Amino acid sequence: MRRLVIVLADGLRPDAVSSSVMPSLDALGRVYTLARRARTVRPSATVAALASLATGVGPDTHRLIEPGLEFLPRLRTIRPVSRVLARAGIPTDIVTADLGPAALPVAWALASTAGVRRLMAKGSRAWETAAAAHRLLSQRQDGLLFVYLPDCDRAGHAHGWMSEQYLEAAAQVDAGVGLLSGWTDDAVFIITADHGGGGVTANEHDQPHSVNDHIPLIVAGPGVTRRHQLTRAISLLDIPATVLWWFGVPVPGEYEGRPLVEAFAHVSRPVPPTPVPA
Ligand SMILES: [Zn+2]
Repeated sequence: MRRLVIVLADGLRPDAVSSSVMPSLDALGRVYTLARRARTVRPSATVAALASLATGVGPDTHRLIEPGLEFLPRLRTIRPVSRVLARAGIPTDIVTADLGPAALPVAWALASTAGVRRLMAKGSRAWETAAAAHRLLSQRQDGLLFVYLPDCDRAGHAHGWMSEQYLEAAAQVDAGVGLLSGWTDDAVFIITADHGGGGVTANEHDQPHSVNDHIPLIVAGPGVTRRHQLTRAISLLDIPATVLWWFGVPVPGEYEGRPLVEAFAHVSRPVPPTPVPA
């Protein structure tokens, strides 16, 4: 089985990943591969970072900074990860927390244009969303699964990054990670965030600042290097390149990151699947 799961905890700072606040994620980082110096793109904002994760290029190229559909025509000129995977016969599914009636159609328009097969919005807390992802994993299908958990960002804006409420949200996210970590025997997990927060203003994360830029990045699962720390500088843009590389699909030349091959000590790369006509 070839399954890769990206768990994106919106606004999760690396210094919230501790044995007391997030024991499950902390344990995965100790058992598998943990990046010490991972950064998001600038601006350190959700839409810009998610668009970079989805397309392999930085905000200067994709220019999707604000939510909306103005970006749709440009999606045809770049090569989103999900569309590249779909052409190789590998589906992408997304499980996100409830987005609200206004945001869901926008999210689906962007996701489907980018080549995503399914988008499920489920739950208002990380644990509920993770439970929906868990049920999807139980169907044992190949492909990429993207799980989006907004809890930390919401608490950070309302109460400040690293506040008591923020750390409670991180613990919620960790409960979700704990549930999903039961699948690390047959799926590779990349657990990360889109940005930090509280670097300049306690309740914000957009301003240029290392505390806003710094993100956790943990890779776990079969073939992943154990008890390893990546100490070089790593970009969020390395994740899309890693995903394609891991599935054995050529990484488009315009992608700005490079695969995190050091995180996979013993990976046996599959023969690329026969392309399926679009
Ligand atoms: Zn935010």
